[in-house]
Formats: sequence, structure tokens, C-alpha cells
Amino acid sequence: MNINLAKQVALVTGASSGIGAGVARAMAAAGARVVINYPNEAAKESALSVLKDIHDGGGEGMICSCDVSKEDQVIHMFKEVVESYGTLDILVNNAGLQRDAPFHDMTLDQWQFVIDVNLTGQFLCAREAIREFLRRGIVPERSVACGKIIHMSSVHEMIPWAGHANYAASKGAIRMLMQTLAQEYGDRKIRVNSICPGAIQTPINKSAWETPQALNNLMNLIPYNRIGQPTDIGNLAVFLASDFSDYVTGASIFIDGGMTVFEGFATGG
Ligand code: NAD
Repeated sequence: MNINLAKQVALVTGASSGIGAGVARAMAAAGARVVINYPNEAAKESALSVLKDIHDGGGEGMICSCDVSKEDQVIHMFKEVVESYGTLDILVNNAGLQRDAPFHDMTLDQWQFVIDVNLTGQFLCAREAIREFLRRGIVPERSVACGKIIHMSSVHEMIPWAGHANYAASKGAIRMLMQTLAQEYGDRKIRVNSICPGAIQTPINKSAWETPQALNNLMNLIPYNRIGQPTDIGNLAVFLASDFSDYVTGASIFIDGGMTVFEGFATGG
């Protein structure tokens, strides 16, 4: 299977680190023009370094600053993308964060911040992407689909997570957002899917892998006995963005080394 996303424009939110950076690199390697979104000045240098990697590999891309939880900034980002590249073909709604607390200590700010970025951010970007897909229509030389949206969900759209109620609630809601959009826009040939990663080695979960002891404990949850890498997610995102997955829509695809088969039950439960 030789995937070629040439001429297609892919916007990856939160692409200055971790999974987003891995997805941006993979999209560029498959020939897409990639928009590397980052949230603020502090992340600009990392965004530029992802762009440099893409240029060094012969790819094409640009960086774009935008806090995805802010409507005016999201509208402005999509305007900038369309002005620069003419349109958008692929949205990877990846930006996300955690603000963990025992539920009885969780502040409204902690709750709201996570919902604003993880859920409202995905709503705002998906809405602007769908507006652009509908405006442009299908261009057969680019793709048989009118547009593709990939939501970055988590195994925690299915597995409850004590101490992370805001995060788990945001990912559970992504599942219904994704399925509803797939249902609402399927007849207009817009494909919408979610990637549900298990443990991927990124800054968001450093405490789970930074010491040998922590990594060893993590393996109790992963039948395949390795932590995932951003390239694992990048490969799946490229497939979902390509016409090779044209019959896949409304799907949550778990990519977790088997975490969701509940390793604890391997010995009888
Ligand atoms: P990360 O912290 O490396 O990346 C998160 C990215 O989101 C960062 O680049 C950050 O700058 C960006 N971001 C945060 N707030 C933003 C905002 N308001 N606007 C724009 N960008 C913003 O962590 P990661 O692991 O790469 O996480 C990426 C996505 O993958 C998240 O949605 C996360 O929930 C999901 N995920 C990660 C794992 C994992 O094990 N790493 C597992 C399941 C799901």
C-alpha cells in the first residue's frame, strides 16, 4: 500500500510536541502540505523545529499559532490556512491536555479548562473544517472524499479513569461528537473518525515512563509490553486520511498495544 497524500492540506492541532508532532511528520512524509498548529509563544520554537524536520525531509508546511479553545483564533487560523494553501483536506483534532485532581477537590477552573481545550477546541476546529469542505466540494484529483476529520480521543473514551474525571469526560464526549458528525455529513462524503491511543511516550504522561520502575508498572496494563510512539499514531492517521480507508467512518480505532483487552484478566481476573 503506497499512500500518497500529495496536494492535500492537513492541519494538525497541538503539533509542536508529542503525538501531534509525530502525526505532522507522518503526513508530510506521505506528501501532504502540513499546517503545524501551536497554542502560544512558548511553543513556537518547538513548532519551528517540527517544520524544520519536514523541510529537511523535502516536505512542505507552515506553522500557525492559535489557542483552539478560542473561537476568534480558530476562525482566524482557518482563514490563514485557506489564504496560504487554498483549502483544507484533512483536520487532525489533536490538541489536548490534563489537569488532574481527585474529583472532590477538582475546581471548576480545572474542569472547565480541560473541557474547553479537549472538547470545545475539537468542536470549533471541526466546524470550521466542515464549513471549508462544504464550500469546496469534492475534488477527485485530491481525494474521493470531500474531507477527512480525525479526532484524537483516548482509551479513556471507554476506560474510566479515577483522578481524571475532566479528561475522561472530555474523551467520552469526543466519541459522540465524532459519531454524530459522521452520521450528519456521511452523505456529503465527509469522513470522521477517532484515534484512541493507549500509552504513547510523550510529555503528557512523562511520570508514567520516565523511570524504569514507572515503565515496568505501566507494562502491567499493556499486553504487547511496549509503550507506544508518536510514529505509531502517525501511521494510523495517514491511513485514515487516505482513500485506502474510504469505507471507514464513524469509527473509534484503538491503538493501545492491547490495553483495552484488560491484561489483568489474563490470569483469570
Ligand atoms: P503533548 O502534551 O505532547 O501534546 C499536546 C499538545 O497540545 C501540545 O503540543 C500543546 O502545545 C497542545 N495544546 C495544548 N493546549 C492547546 C490549545 N489550547 N491550543 C492549541 N494547542 C494546544 O501530549 P500528547 O500525548 O502528544 O497529546 C496529544 C493528544 O493525544 C491529546 O489530545 C491527548 O489527550 C491524546 N492522547 C495522548 C495519549 C498519550 O499516552 N500520550 C493517550 C491518549 C490520548
